[in-house]
Amino acid sequence: MLNDTNETTDASNTTFSPVPAPLEEAVPPALLHRSLRQAPYLVKSAKGLAITLSDGRTVLDACGGAAVACLGHGNEEVLRAVTAQMSSGVSYLHSLTYTTSAAEELAHALVDGPHGGSRFGLERAYLVNSGSEAMDAALKLARQYFFELDGPGTTRSHFVARRQAYHGTTVGAMNVSSNLPRKIPYANLQLPNVSWVTPAYQYQYSNWRQGETEGEFAARLVEELDAHFRSLGPDKVVAFIAEPLVGATSGCTPAPKGYFAGVRRVCDEHGVLLILDEVMCGMGRTGTQFAFEQEEGRVVPDIMTMGKGLGGGFAPVAGMLVHKKVLDVLRKGTSSFNHGHTYQAHPVGCASTLAVQRIIARDGVIENCARMGKVLRSLLGDTLGPRKYVGDIRGRGLFWGIEFVRDKTTRDPFPPGVAFGPRFQQMAFELGVAVYPGSGTVDGTKGDHAIISPPYNVTEDELREIVRIVHEAYERLEKEVDDAGHGR
Ligand SMILES: *Cc1c(COP(=O)(O)O)cnc(C)c1O
Repeated sequence: MLNDTNETTDASNTTFSPVPAPLEEAVPPALLHRSLRQAPYLVKSAKGLAITLSDGRTVLDACGGAAVACLGHGNEEVLRAVTAQMSSGVSYLHSLTYTTSAAEELAHALVDGPHGGSRFGLERAYLVNSGSEAMDAALKLARQYFFELDGPGTTRSHFVARRQAYHGTTVGAMNVSSNLPRKIPYANLQLPNVSWVTPAYQYQYSNWRQGETEGEFAARLVEELDAHFRSLGPDKVVAFIAEPLVGATSGCTPAPKGYFAGVRRVCDEHGVLLILDEVMCGMGRTGTQFAFEQEEGRVVPDIMTMGKGLGGGFAPVAGMLVHKKVLDVLRKGTSSFNHGHTYQAHPVGCASTLAVQRIIARDGVIENCARMGKVLRSLLGDTLGPRKYVGDIRGRGLFWGIEFVRDKTTRDPFPPGVAFGPRFQQMAFELGVAVYPGSGTVDGTKGDHAIISPPYNVTEDELREIVRIVHEAYERLEKEVDDAGHGR
């Protein structure tokens, strides 16, 4: 599959590079940036939504990086928590021998807190440093589950994921990802025991021309998954992996109603574990603690991963929540998870993240996210909705994707050469708002989107200012594209 796109995809065009900026200094950087040709902007300071660049310009951060900064930048309470942890002298200890109250309390907050996982049987938290590490841990735990359940001779070694999805950048997580531009040079590292099914991406993948409804689309995909499991053979599949809302790859794409309930049922019928990757869409981003909470029916994962919004970017923290069903099998077997990182449950990262989670619980920040999400949705709908190159506006909470198309009646994207997505981000940035861009939205090669994912404590006035500037960026780009003869 990768080889097909090798010739047609320009990786440098489609990776999510920051707004290109020429190297400012005469001295070449020692840091290996994403690009060897252009360095990102140097940042002097940041506070709340405002990022101040070294050239004195201020940018409103409407995306929190990649939907990370859920409380904005520069939080004093988090600063105090980090300082207190380091003042105690406990900055690092090895998790084999020691634990810390920062890590224990954070895990309790994630499991037993008012928004915690134990409401769904998710009884233990595993804490690491990146979403990719969390996904690797989830893949290994899922495999170990069957090793313990069926014995070392278990036939289960296959993973099924979806096309147009991202699960991380380490070799393990990359193997189940299907974000094609990010995999191009590494095609030979692809394990054979991974396969992909149709994305739950209604705007481009439903048979809307034939009038297929949301429910029919969902049912078709669930049938496809069932048939896929059958074609792989009984007792072959370890887990099905999916993002409840697809993040960077296609832009805040929720599944059609009923899809995840069907997925859960089919997984159960085949004894397959369900891993939900909530690294981008979870931890309050969609207006509930977990994105899966808003799915129709009771959809509970066996393993769930979290990252970006978990620690709000103050420290590198990510993790995994594990269901009782998985823990019980381990308890009856080796009673250990055969995995580990030097920096797992890092005390400073945990103290920082505990402060974030306490602020969120105390101040009703997720409720604000849900409330402000409705405001953002209507502002985007009113301004960008009717515009000729805006095909779809989708998302939940404060997680919104705008998909750009060349033709709204056919839903055909712009040719990649127009670079509509990257240029939209650049235009918005020049006007003073940072959004998160995406290309290859439709199939890894074609399509453009932008993500707007402001902090959960954003105000209505801030949202109005963001949308005003984003709309102006769109208008200017629309004109540029039309003037260059790329439009309709
Ligand atoms: C960002 C992301 C990851 C990887 O997280 P990193 O912290 O970048 O390693 C995994 N899954 C999804 C859905 C993501 O958005």
